[in-house]
Amino acid sequence: MKDFTPTPYTLECVATGREFEDTGWMLADPQCKTPSLVRAKYARRQLEVKPDEYGFYKFCDWLPVRRMLKGSSAPVTYKSKGLARHLGLENLYITFNGYYPAIGATMSTCSFKETEAFSVCARAAEDEERVLVVASAGNTARAFAKVCSDNHIKLLLSVPYDNIEALWFEHPLNPCVKLISCEKGGDYFDAIHLSDIALKGSGFYAEGGAKNIARRDGMATTVLSAVTTIGRIPDYYFQAVGSGTGAIAAWEANMRLIEDGRFGSNTMKLMVSQNAPFVPMYDAWQAGSRKMLAYEDDKARRDAEIIDAKVLSNRRPPYGITGGLYDALKATGGEFFVATNAMARKARKLFKELEGVDIYSASGIALASLVNAVAAGKIEKDAVVMLNITGGGEEHFKEDKELWYLKPSHVFPLEPDTDDVVAKVEALFAKNIAE
Ligand SMILES: *Cc1c(COP(=O)(O)O)cnc(C)c1O
Repeated sequence: MKDFTPTPYTLECVATGREFEDTGWMLADPQCKTPSLVRAKYARRQLEVKPDEYGFYKFCDWLPVRRMLKGSSAPVTYKSKGLARHLGLENLYITFNGYYPAIGATMSTCSFKETEAFSVCARAAEDEERVLVVASAGNTARAFAKVCSDNHIKLLLSVPYDNIEALWFEHPLNPCVKLISCEKGGDYFDAIHLSDIALKGSGFYAEGGAKNIARRDGMATTVLSAVTTIGRIPDYYFQAVGSGTGAIAAWEANMRLIEDGRFGSNTMKLMVSQNAPFVPMYDAWQAGSRKMLAYEDDKARRDAEIIDAKVLSNRRPPYGITGGLYDALKATGGEFFVATNAMARKARKLFKELEGVDIYSASGIALASLVNAVAAGKIEKDAVVMLNITGGGEEHFKEDKELWYLKPSHVFPLEPDTDDVVAKVEALFAKNIAE
């Protein structure tokens, strides 16, 4: 058994600065009157990276975890040659989250949602009896399903029926993982609505999304990987954003790394991007607004259907909340970009040719925005650039594999009956225990 001691931490409310104890799964400061994130303050100021056999938990010094789960992998950072030469950049570093064993990347669910899942699920107590509830459009669900199945953690997923083909796995899952769906035509928001109803059942608890420190500090490992590989904090951070949680996490990691003292005092500019025409955060940012602008439901649904990178179609992101993406961009002198499907497709092709593996559309959006920023003369050629490839290698992973698909136990209408949902989800897990 690998040696492991959880790092003690306290929580700090970003809005008020109040410090308090994490008495268990706290997602906000109960005394704070305004919407605000809370952050973990770790007792270990300097990060001591553990050996590779720790997988994702090599960064456990700065994770709010009680234990280490099985089967994890860490993000992998390397200095680009092909893409770097193509773009004329001398210091382009790629942080790869996905499956590409040739470079040591072995995330079998192929996205950085795995970093969230290994962190969140390890924040929960080992003897937790309740069922964790996660709503997702796909990648998050796949990541949590794998982690929970491999580690016997009870999980209820809510995924739109139209997205269930995203729930592919190498092996059949343990029955401790169950899926419910909203009927055809429903989207991520309908899945969230359904999961909120399921949470009224007894014995379920919410994962919490961006408000969960474990989610953000899990994603922050992408930056910990980059900085401990490069030896310094980069100048620019490129990532495609849906909720913006990953970018908020990158900023938080940056602040901890400055405190660490060994990686410089640089604040990297967050260079974030969305997939046109679904660009609600970009629009708010361009308008100089902390509040999201009005985005009519039907228009949002239509735009979400058009974009390749469906994982970026979040309609209620933690953008304006204190400590959220708006603050992160302000604090880092960041910029917002948009890229089209066509640009992303071209970028994905380029990545495959020059770096050797397929990447997701969302990663294609991030790369397209880097290509555009370089062309616009925004990036000095000797700047240290971190390109966060948030997901990739799915095609590579699926080569020569028979896949198994998770199927919903129940499919509910878009306006489901509360009692019906509660009764059915309670029964799902009651049965599971009796088995
Ligand atoms: C979820 C996801 C994103 C967006 O991350 P956020 O933290 O929601 O902004 C980007 N790329 C991939 C592959 C994702 O799965």
